[in-house]
Amino acid sequence: MKNIIFIGPPGAGKGTQAELICKNYGIKQISTGDILRANVAQMTPLGISAKSFMEKGKLVPDEIIIKMIKEEITKPENSNGILFDGFPRTIPQAIALDNMMVELGMNLDRVLLLEVPDEEIILRLSGRRICRTCQRTFHIVFNPPPDPKECDRGVCDIYQREDDKEETIMKRLAVYHDQTSPLIDYYESKGKLVRINGVGSLESIYDLITKAIQNN
Ligand code: AMP
Repeated sequence: MKNIIFIGPPGAGKGTQAELICKNYGIKQISTGDILRANVAQMTPLGISAKSFMEKGKLVPDEIIIKMIKEEITKPENSNGILFDGFPRTIPQAIALDNMMVELGMNLDRVLLLEVPDEEIILRLSGRRICRTCQRTFHIVFNPPPDPKECDRGVCDIYQREDDKEETIMKRLAVYHDQTSPLIDYYESKGKLVRINGVGSLESIYDLITKAIQNN
């Protein structure tokens, strides 16, 4: 069983790499951002309380996120191992996760830090586009969206995430440096952290990640 945490600024490529890792190791990805977006789309009580924070690029309050993770972590389909993508994002979230893991007898294997400079993040996120139908991610310059009819599941419906607009990107980066980067020291002092250079080809980054997981 492997339990892994992915830390890194928004747009570092956590989601893309997480998918590959989960396939390879047979573990489940828990992306707090994806769960929140699904709740916003369905206008659930959770989605309604999270929406305004997300649109402003702010973090959703810790109590809401911790409650959500508590529900996810105990689902039977996650018993083979979990890759946490986008969680924890604050020290209180990390402490809550530590406590949950002790309670459930789970072990944290690795914390992978995907490092990407701010300038590169701005370039990546401002050009990011997503297909509503197949959920694939594109970039207007580096990986342009296909002809709409070539969608895996029907017709591509390309949109830009509300929080990928320029001023919100700057806000999210500031939030990352302010509230999430303290986790680097937190996990480094526990001997769990591995730094991964997040600039390069998808394959070369994936290679670094698998080595980091195997050297556990
Ligand atoms: P992401 O897709 O991971 O970039 O998350 C999108 C947005 O969801 C963030 O900007 C936050 O508003 C919210 N969010 C996702 N994960 C968390 C978390 N662990 N703690 C607080 N807010 C979160």
